[in-house]
Amino acid sequence: MSTVYIGLGSNLDNPAQQLQGAVDSLKSLPETKFILASSLFSSKPMGPQDQPDYMNAVVCIETELSPLALLDQLQAIELAFGRVRKDERWGARVLDLDILLIDDLVIENERLTVPHYGMKVREFVIYPLAQINPELVLPDGSNVTQLQEKIDDNGLIIVGELR
Ligand code: ATP
Ligand code: CA
Ligand code: CA
Ligand code: CA
Repeated sequence: MSTVYIGLGSNLDNPAQQLQGAVDSLKSLPETKFILASSLFSSKPMGPQDQPDYMNAVVCIETELSPLALLDQLQAIELAFGRVRKDERWGARVLDLDILLIDDLVIENERLTVPHYGMKVREFVIYPLAQINPELVLPDGSNVTQLQEKIDDNGLIIVGELR
């Protein structure tokens, strides 16, 4: 059984509803127990600014799925929600599901980098993560609350709760 943190993001077609739908899907993953979800956060887009603000959240699950089997499941959920892969990096999307952490594992292969390479500097990841587990320590020894104190909130706000 692995403890996994997943970052959720959406900025198209009623993002709050997309994230609640994604949480519902994560709750029905095979061989997986849903542990908890952060609040729903509103954030400014990263990269191209000609796109709507984002909704973000982080959830914790416990799973027997292997890392790549979990990635397959998350990508299938993204596709089911109508995610279209575009050439533009960090462009608008209906749903993005990133694996942030899997226990203390460090994984680097063609499909999967864990911990997620950008998580330590993204306020829309670190703030929700610190909300659900302020004691959390990354494989490199950094503490999520200390990371949170180092990065600007960039206008991030809590706008609701997930069920
Ligand atoms: P970013 O990765 O900077 O947050 P993004 O989420 O928009 O950008 P995607 O287009 O969703 O990037 O993903 C590109 C590829 O990243 C996926 O096809 C997947 O194989 C790979 N990937 C590597 N590590 C991870 C991870 N930890 N979680 C999810 N996907 C990952
Ligand atoms: Ca654009
Ligand atoms: Ca992402
Ligand atoms: Ca992604």
